[in-house]
Amino acid sequence: MSWFKRTEKGITTPTEEKREVPDGLWYQCPECKKVVHTREHEEHAWTCIECNYHARVGSKEYFELFFDNNEFTELDAGLSSSDPLKFIDSQPYPKRIKAAQAKTGLTDAVRTAHGKVSGKEVVISCMDFTFIGGSMGSVVGEKISRGIDAARAKKVPFIMICKSGGARMMEAGFSLMQMAKTSAKLALLAEEGLPYISILTDPTTGGVTASYAMLGDINIAEPGALIGFAGPRVVRETIGKDLPAGFQTSEFLLEHGFLDFIVDRKEMKKQVSDFLRMVEKK
Ligand SMILES: [Zn+2]
Repeated sequence: MSWFKRTEKGITTPTEEKREVPDGLWYQCPECKKVVHTREHEEHAWTCIECNYHARVGSKEYFELFFDNNEFTELDAGLSSSDPLKFIDSQPYPKRIKAAQAKTGLTDAVRTAHGKVSGKEVVISCMDFTFIGGSMGSVVGEKISRGIDAARAKKVPFIMICKSGGARMMEAGFSLMQMAKTSAKLALLAEEGLPYISILTDPTTGGVTASYAMLGDINIAEPGALIGFAGPRVVRETIGKDLPAGFQTSEFLLEHGFLDFIVDRKEMKKQVSDFLRMVEKK
């Protein structure tokens, strides 16, 4: 018997009700507590006007930021996960998928689209953290692979916007296979001399960091993003040492040679366009 029992419900907020960017009229920065109108926040690409904190946003927002006039054609929009392992934890996996789909309006944790960025045709895949923590299962791997195939067929660059808690546990080995599959597809893209840009946003961890996120011809991160493989606690226990300050942030990784650039989200489209123009085959 416990000494203390919580009888009233509604004190804690269930994860599914927590929102990364609130829908209301006002947005409060979780870093500096500055309150701004949501429209103003959106005009600043969902970054804080006071401290430049980059709020987590999803594929809808990134497509809006990148594609000219927000015009694009979504690829493989209907792909949805099956349940190869008949996996049940606190609930059966198919039920979890359905709940995530109902909550987010997405079919899985990545969306792929073809369109123009500063007048240049590209294929972009963008992950959504709101869908089961942006976890990489078979659908995520398959959609990214097909996105790379589409880029190869159209002879255009491929851009990946990463945001993930890592491999999806409910698909176990099937999730891990996606690391090899996407990496192999990227090798085919490289063989054809087509550019691949990886954009790492907060957070990029686990099997995603260990595969396509770090394989860009250039790897760009947003400021202040958490980027790593295992979490700090696991690393600390494994190496038996305290970790340096700022460990696993974009800034720390840039200093240690894992990234090429850190780019402010407001400048991201321009920087990526400039790079694509630089490497364009004449
Ligand atoms: Zn702020």
